[in-house]
Amino acid sequence: MKIEVLEKDETNLRIIVRDAEVPLMNALRRIVLAEVPSMAVDEVVMIENSSILQDEMIAHRLGLVPLKTDLENYNLPEDCECKSEFGCSECRVTLTLNAESTEGTRTVYSGELVSENPAVSPVSEKIPLIKLAKGQKLKLEAYARLGKGMAHAKWQPVCVAAYKYYPKIVVPAKACDDCQKCVDICSKKVLAMKGTKIDVKELLSCNLCMDCAEACPKEAEGIKVEWEKNAFVMNIESTGALPPERILQEAVKILDKQLTDFVEQIKVEES
Ligand SMILES: [Zn+2]
Repeated sequence: MKIEVLEKDETNLRIIVRDAEVPLMNALRRIVLAEVPSMAVDEVVMIENSSILQDEMIAHRLGLVPLKTDLENYNLPEDCECKSEFGCSECRVTLTLNAESTEGTRTVYSGELVSENPAVSPVSEKIPLIKLAKGQKLKLEAYARLGKGMAHAKWQPVCVAAYKYYPKIVVPAKACDDCQKCVDICSKKVLAMKGTKIDVKELLSCNLCMDCAEACPKEAEGIKVEWEKNAFVMNIESTGALPPERILQEAVKILDKQLTDFVEQIKVEES
């Protein structure tokens, strides 16, 4: 298998994977969505809430604030040795909020949450949590834990985890009379005119919608959109909880462990 990195930054990873099969790509995609753990607020103790929102609404909003995740120093609650319902310093992080409006109405942002461990804090400081009118107060303690997307979407470390086939577009030099119908219809601007000829300019933007092939008046001899059977373009966009390449590495580790466990179980059955 060969991997080529197309784009990589703090939150985005786009790669080409060659010599792979659909089941592998799909397994990785599903593990990224459902099994790579990340931190999210799971319980909230309201100390004072004189805002107009119910406690539950505020707790729900806090749960959806993406938190930077530290996988090295925290355990999943179910794997932690403490076995405590309330968690311990190795499976729980406390964030506190103490907000008040003394004059006029103001918005409370995620940046006001104070974490006991700065490595686990909101990814963005600018997520609005609530508006407080003059004299209203909100004081709470929120407990963040590691969790998995399969239990609740707030624990998904990604907003996007998707793959598509590597597209292949053939413009037949003989049949094509450069009518440009395919260029005009493509919403992804994959095709463009190069001089008087039609050129595939942004191949990787193609989502195989076939609009160009349908628009082509030459039908069978006209433009052809195909895909490579064993090559994929994979896109991972992190919420900011973990770097995208780390998310993919964790997914591979999880898949590896699941397969090892599977082999072990077969051995047990045999013996
Ligand atoms: Zn613990």
